[in-house]
Amino acid sequence: MRILIFGPNGSGKGTQSAILVKKTGLTHIESGGIFREHAKKGTELGKKAKTYTDQGQLVPDEITIPMIVDRLSRSDCANGWILDGFPRNPSQAMALIQALEQGQTPLDVVIEIRLAREVAKARLMGRATCPNGHPNNTAIPAIAPIKSGNQLICAKCQQPVTVRQDDIDEQAIDVRLNIYFDEQNGTVSAIRAVESWAANRPDVNVIHVDGEGDIQAISETIAAALGR
Ligand SMILES: [Zn+2]
Repeated sequence: MRILIFGPNGSGKGTQSAILVKKTGLTHIESGGIFREHAKKGTELGKKAKTYTDQGQLVPDEITIPMIVDRLSRSDCANGWILDGFPRNPSQAMALIQALEQGQTPLDVVIEIRLAREVAKARLMGRATCPNGHPNNTAIPAIAPIKSGNQLICAKCQQPVTVRQDDIDEQAIDVRLNIYFDEQNGTVSAIRAVESWAANRPDVNVIHVDGEGDIQAISETIAAALGR
């Protein structure tokens, strides 16, 4: 199976990818990791990409697509992959789909975890750190820390948690969500482009999941849709 997974930050996309990897043995590929690897190793593509990022410009498809396709054609991806974090605009989406078809490894599943922007933002702002590493989030009831006097404590271990949410965090969160939810040239429009492509291809499985559900409910919905 070759899967594209989409969802805004805060939708639990990473968690769901990890669950899918466990269930299916597919390889989880994060696009950020690919770009970092090329930059670190100083490959030809990495050097070319750097000339754009140094000027604060978007790296063009002629550079990003070969990086992604190269990664997806390595041996650890022979049994399938889940690509996370790419494409981020319609032109990348169509270029990737075309490159995969040309390589005889067409895309066969698209998963979109849907979450309203304000819910995603509340979750990102509500992340809290427990000294024992338990997941805590003031915006997610199942893992919300508890009020104890004027402190918030972890429901699992009763240790005080720290909620990190300053203006800088909020700005960074807004920037990332702006890119995701941009309906003209952002990730949401990339998803729509992939969906219209898939509409004429009955063999492509397009799965929409409500990101407000709990982790297990979401993973069960995805597994059922995949027939796993
Ligand atoms: Zn704890």
